[in-house]
Amino acid sequence: MPPAARRVTAVTGLLLTALTALATWAVSVYVYPFRHCGRCGGTGRKKGSTRRRFDLCRRCSGTGRVQRIGSRAAHRSVLSVRSEMARERQRHRARKADERSTPPRRLDNRP
Ligand SMILES: [Zn+2]
Repeated sequence: MPPAARRVTAVTGLLLTALTALATWAVSVYVYPFRHCGRCGGTGRKKGSTRRRFDLCRRCSGTGRVQRIGSRAAHRSVLSVRSEMARERQRHRARKADERSTPPRRLDNRP
């Protein structure tokens, strides 16, 4: 193989690997949108809380989990695609119903 062709193959391989990694990350961020809150370690308690003085973690507001970066975007894009598909179905249904319906009779040439 000539060196130029070998370089192209290497670049293609790299690109494919990057794309696969990106797709894997996108799916994982969609399926698991939350991660452990780093500040409280997933407990939801503010550091320094005792039995007497208890406070919720500010970052996760006591849930112990925070949203992963990119999960909002992933869910939004999936939602927008799905709503676009639903709109398309609705348009199709409306068109079909319109075709099936009989045209209204004119009122002026009634006997
Ligand atoms: Zn927290």
